[in-house]
Amino acid sequence: MASLYFHIPYCEHKCVYCDFYSIENMTSMEQFLAALELEIIRRAEEFSSKETIETIFFGGGTPSLLSKEQLGKIFNLLHKHYRIESTAEITCESNPGTVEQQKLNDFKSVGFNRISFGVQSFYEDDLKFLTRIHSAEEAERAVDNAYRAGFSNVNVDLIFALPNQTPGRWKENLRRAIALQPKHVSAYALIVEEQTPLATMVKNKLVAPLPPEEDAAMYEITIETLTSHGYRQYEVSNFAQPGFECRHNIRYWDHSNYLSFGPSAHSFWKDSPATGKRWWNVRSIQSYCESMSRNEFPIVGSEEIDAKKFFEEEIFLGLRSSGIDEKKVKQLFGESVFDAKASLLKDLEREGLVTRQNNTISLTEKGYSICDEIARKLM
Ligand code: SF4
Repeated sequence: MASLYFHIPYCEHKCVYCDFYSIENMTSMEQFLAALELEIIRRAEEFSSKETIETIFFGGGTPSLLSKEQLGKIFNLLHKHYRIESTAEITCESNPGTVEQQKLNDFKSVGFNRISFGVQSFYEDDLKFLTRIHSAEEAERAVDNAYRAGFSNVNVDLIFALPNQTPGRWKENLRRAIALQPKHVSAYALIVEEQTPLATMVKNKLVAPLPPEEDAAMYEITIETLTSHGYRQYEVSNFAQPGFECRHNIRYWDHSNYLSFGPSAHSFWKDSPATGKRWWNVRSIQSYCESMSRNEFPIVGSEEIDAKKFFEEEIFLGLRSSGIDEKKVKQLFGESVFDAKASLLKDLEREGLVTRQNNTISLTEKGYSICDEIARKLM
């Protein structure tokens, strides 16, 4: 089984902290959609017979800018050229500033069954700082409208460790998110990505990032608050009510095959159980459209994932998410693969950083906060 990802590279306004590829000028939208349709058809010639599709994700950018007709055309093509499971999870990322009730009804009718809202904060000054285009009230209304449209599987994205954010304000953000009763919450610390306006603001000392210990304290609050309200942490930044873990994300973390479409999109396909290839498209709408019009794939880079890299990724991705599947890793890399790490694993267990149960090595709440360090040791 495989997954599909669609990168819709337009945003009404570029947020100061965002380094995903998207542009504000939408005049190329029709040309982009024509190129996307070609990419969908051309890729199907190679891959559609190989696996059925279990998850589809529209991200970006802002896929919620697409109209019902534009989305309907893409869905028709997908159903014509790929074998999509009747139970497939199909997610649309949505900016609360771009969706009124009718739009959410349209998303439901074209075939989405999961919706993810970039809420980020319930404080107007935070939203202003992040240069989001919506208010807190609009975000709350968008979630309510999604339920009214018939969505039961709703995610809310939040950002913590904002400059000057206090633990009290972060707790209040979590409280308001939980009050909306989403099935899934993603909570990310603000990262200052290079080449963003935020990075320039930090460089010019206009903004001071929170010290790491305050960031860590907010992360602890996140885990405590969400887990005490029935959300299970199944990845460093992701929490879900039982049965509502994002299947699409899980498939990225367990080395499943996925094809991605649109500028800057990354794909991965295995060529054996423990090796594969990753490739990515050009980060420019214009170059993307030009390539497709020449009938060439807009790929600008690729990476062979050999057995060593595959093993390291199994450890890293497994630890970040629901744990390292010992049985699977031993099947792929040999029964003795963890022997040299036996005493290290015992120490980590003793320190309360990992648990080793039912053939799974998982991080504890304490372990999640130093996930990268533990992964490095195990690799
Ligand atoms: S709406 Fe999302 S994708 Fe667009 S600029 Fe803001 S954070 Fe980035």
